[in-house]
Amino acid sequence: MSSTVIHGIGSLVTNDPTLGEGPLGLVPDAALVFEDERVAWAGPAGAAPPADTAWDAGGRAVLPGFVDSHSHLLFAGDRTEEFNARMSGRPYSAGGIRTTVAATRAASDVELRENLRRHLREALRQGSTTMETKSGYGLTTEQESRALRVAAELTEEVTYLGAHVVPAEYAEDPAGYVALVTGPMLDACAPYARWVDAFCERGAFDEDQARAILRAGRERGLTPRIHANQLSYGPGVRLGVELGAASADHCTHLTDADVDALAQGDTVATLLPGCEFSTRAVYPDARRLLDAGVTVALSTDCNPGSSFTSSMPFCVAIAVREMGMTPGEAVWSATAGGARALRRADVGRLSAGAYADLAVLDAPSHVHLAYRPGVPLVREVWRRGSRVD
Ligand SMILES: [Zn+2]
Repeated sequence: MSSTVIHGIGSLVTNDPTLGEGPLGLVPDAALVFEDERVAWAGPAGAAPPADTAWDAGGRAVLPGFVDSHSHLLFAGDRTEEFNARMSGRPYSAGGIRTTVAATRAASDVELRENLRRHLREALRQGSTTMETKSGYGLTTEQESRALRVAAELTEEVTYLGAHVVPAEYAEDPAGYVALVTGPMLDACAPYARWVDAFCERGAFDEDQARAILRAGRERGLTPRIHANQLSYGPGVRLGVELGAASADHCTHLTDADVDALAQGDTVATLLPGCEFSTRAVYPDARRLLDAGVTVALSTDCNPGSSFTSSMPFCVAIAVREMGMTPGEAVWSATAGGARALRRADVGRLSAGAYADLAVLDAPSHVHLAYRPGVPLVREVWRRGSRVD
């Protein structure tokens, strides 16, 4: 076993309230000790146990690596022209998700794998040490299962999203597509995935269809999560809570009953502000959820259509500016909140037993993530106790 101490930490976010101040468990003038891949000790610098090697953080802030619990990285092509038209007020009649489906179906396994690798790497350099990613741009049994097979090679949190949208070839037979998603496609995909997801929205899947899809996944050992209440009010959030979903994602249009359901259940509300940014839509009201006692996660929703950012610091800054979160709440939601949304106790915190996954900021405090928006503050990233080049 080899041990490493990081000393000279100006401010350490542990997310363990027993170790420091507030929900972030903030420790000023701190040190952190790893043994191999795991944190062995965190606390005030003067009390740190000895270790084999030492690294000086130079007074910088250290926080747990971001846990990005919602992304769509199994795709090919991009949608630059669609975005440009939307932001320029010009009509654009391409097929949205279906445009990416066509490009993804045409891509080789090698292209798909290299795209995923590039996006995971881009996210890692910005401090995201845990990434969830989904299928959903294949929409045939063969295409969805190959996307998940590729995902499972490169990331540990894999979600089956055959129910992203009804593909063109099933436009006249949505029930037939649901039968495929809950039958042969699920059989082919379940071995590679931990989660099952459905886009419950007008124009995608209605309440009964989403319930059938998530239940079928659950019967195959996958845990539900749901795209809910993104574009309009609807049944998605309450359905997620009813089915024990780990997370209801988007939560932009919520009634009081939706907020109450989230507050009483153990489904995390995952907010994806990159999506509202990239579509000039109204942001979700994080303050309302937090004040009701709901657990909130922040995530990028990185995808080529509605949110092509892999930057969790960017999401933190927007959440503070536009969604009523304090800097501390936003940082918690981007780390510990994401871990809750993935039901992980071994990431999203820096205390004994957790993975030694962390970001070192070129700043004295985590607050700078919101205070200095758009500045590349993540200077170093460590994952599983090793420094990422
Ligand atoms: Zn999504």
